[in-house]
Amino acid sequence: MPDPVDNANASASACADCGGSGYVVEQILGATARARRCACQASCPRCEETGYVLVPQGGSTVAQVCSCRHLDERIAVFNQIAIPAAVARASFETFKSWSPDHARARAVAEDFARKFRRDAPTKGYLLYGRPGAGKTHLLVATLRWLALEKGVSGRYVEFMLLLSEIKAGFDANRSHMDILRPLLSVPVLAIDELGKERGTEWERSMLDELISRRFNSGLATLFATNYFLRPDENPVREEPGKHVRTASPEWRRDAEAMTLAQRVGDRIYSRLNEMCTFVKLDPGHDLRKDRAGSGGFWG
Ligand SMILES: [Zn+2]
Ligand SMILES: [Zn+2]
Repeated sequence: MPDPVDNANASASACADCGGSGYVVEQILGATARARRCACQASCPRCEETGYVLVPQGGSTVAQVCSCRHLDERIAVFNQIAIPAAVARASFETFKSWSPDHARARAVAEDFARKFRRDAPTKGYLLYGRPGAGKTHLLVATLRWLALEKGVSGRYVEFMLLLSEIKAGFDANRSHMDILRPLLSVPVLAIDELGKERGTEWERSMLDELISRRFNSGLATLFATNYFLRPDENPVREEPGKHVRTASPEWRRDAEAMTLAQRVGDRIYSRLNEMCTFVKLDPGHDLRKDRAGSGGFWG
């Protein structure tokens, strides 16, 4: 039986707004990304909004759920991810591969998405490199593809914001588990900005609980971090009079001094190794120059 969403694609192939996908993603400042049915699908041309189509089967006809309902389900799954507005439209198609690192990282992310199965554990990936290289873009592109093409649920969190949410919850008499619980069962979780936290014992215990439980349940977790794996991988020092980096002075000091293992602790670092393929995403030169005119969003 053909994939119902493919049928929707075929009948909408002429649409300039959605490119035949049947959905469009809206970027609303201050809100998370929202997808909706494209205008070309507003009144379903196949079922006229009854939700069912009659298909011939063995000499008679049977009612089948129309592909538009599958599209609605996938849109709902996408809207649960909580993609930040700045990267609302990030997808594999809009990711610019302008260095060997970028091509490699994109291949790993796409491979993960295509091979992902709900019924078998899939090893995640961890992207590391300087800010602005496109790590957030790839995390979001992976979650987007899984949601809209396969209907797989995912969630995106920035680790620091998650910690703030847990702390705010304490004031409202909510335990950390109230906040973490939905993240423990979602099939794919992307944790961005790993290592940006201060690294207190409490912060580490939250991270450990979250990722260890997911690992033990066989669930895939993706990560992005600005920290390198070895001290000799850290970005070269700036030469006097020559501007080679765009990162903040604060980040530079940190990055030159610390590795990811130092930021998250040895125990979590070795857990990350078990859970993920590590992929460097760092073009190693001026990011601003490359980004000029790309028109995209980068994280
Ligand atoms: Zn359309
Ligand atoms: Zn329909």
